[in-house]
Amino acid sequence: MAAPTRDLAELLASARHAVILTGAGVSTESGIPDFRSPGGIWETVDPMEVGSLTTFLRTPERFWSFHRPRFDAVDSVAPNPAHMAVAELERRGIVKALITQNIDGLHRRAGSTDPIEVHGTLDRGVCLRCDAYVARDELLARADASGDGVPRCSACGFAMKSGVVLFGEQLPYEPITRAFAAADRADVMLVIGSSLLVTPVSTLPQVVLNSGGRIAILTEGDTPYDAHCAVRLRGKAGQQMAEVIDHLDRTADQTPA
Ligand code: NAD
Repeated sequence: MAAPTRDLAELLASARHAVILTGAGVSTESGIPDFRSPGGIWETVDPMEVGSLTTFLRTPERFWSFHRPRFDAVDSVAPNPAHMAVAELERRGIVKALITQNIDGLHRRAGSTDPIEVHGTLDRGVCLRCDAYVARDELLARADASGDGVPRCSACGFAMKSGVVLFGEQLPYEPITRAFAAADRADVMLVIGSSLLVTPVSTLPQVVLNSGGRIAILTEGDTPYDAHCAVRLRGKAGQQMAEVIDHLDRTADQTPA
C-alpha cells in the first residue's frame, strides 16, 4: 500500500494551483495549545467567552488578563517542521497561497512570505472607537504601564484590542476576500491542523470541491470533510510534512536531467 505522505507529495506535485489552509493544530508541536484537542485551551477557559467582543467591551481587564500572557507564550516558541515544510513548498513554487486561521505569526517566522491571516494577528493593536492603530510593542508597553493591564488609546482613552479577530467581530474584508479568491482558483487544497468547524473558513474546502478540485487533510482529529478527501493523513503534522518534502526530494533525484 502506498504511504499517504507519498500520495500527498504526488497530489501536490501534480497541482496547477495548490493552496494550503492551516489551523491551530499546525502550531501545537511548537507548544501552543489548540482549542479542541485533549489539553487544548477549551479545557481551561471558554475561548468564546474570554475571546469575545462582548467580554472585551464589558470587562477589558478580564479580556487582557487572558490575552496578555499569550503574547509572551508566542514569543517563547519557534516554528516547527510543519511550518518549515509549508514555507518550503511555497519556495519551490508548488504552493501558490497560504491561508491561516492562526494568529501566532509562526508561518512568517518559518519563511512564508505572505500568509493570508484571516483571523488577524498579534502584530498590532487597534482602538475600536477612533480606528487608531499602534504597533505591538507600543500596545504591550501601554498594557504593562497601566494599572489594570488594559492598553488605552492615546487619542480618546478607550481600551485598545489586539489585531486578533474576536468572536462576535466581522472578519477583516481584505484577507477573507483573498482567501475565497485563492480557494476559487485552487485545484488542490491541503488542510493542516484545523477541525474545520469555524465558519466561514470551514467552507473553503467546499469551494474547492464545488469547482472540481481535490482536497487533502492532515489532522489528528476528525473533520466534516473526511469522506471527501483525495488523501487523508492522520498523525503529527511536523513529521508527516517532513516526509512529504522527503518524497518530493526523492522524486526530483530520480528525474532524468
Ligand atoms: P481546532 O482546535 O478546532 O482544531 C485543531 C485541529 O488540529 C484538530 O483537528 C486536531 O486534531 C488537530 N491537531 C492538533 N495538533 C495536531 C498535530 N500536531 N498534527 C496534526 N493535527 C493536529 O483549531 P482551528 O480549526 O484552527 O480553530 C480554532 C480557532 O482558534 C481558529 O480561529 C484558530 O486560529 C484559533 N487558535 C489559534 C491558535 C494559534 O494561533 N496557534 C491557537 C489556538 C486557537
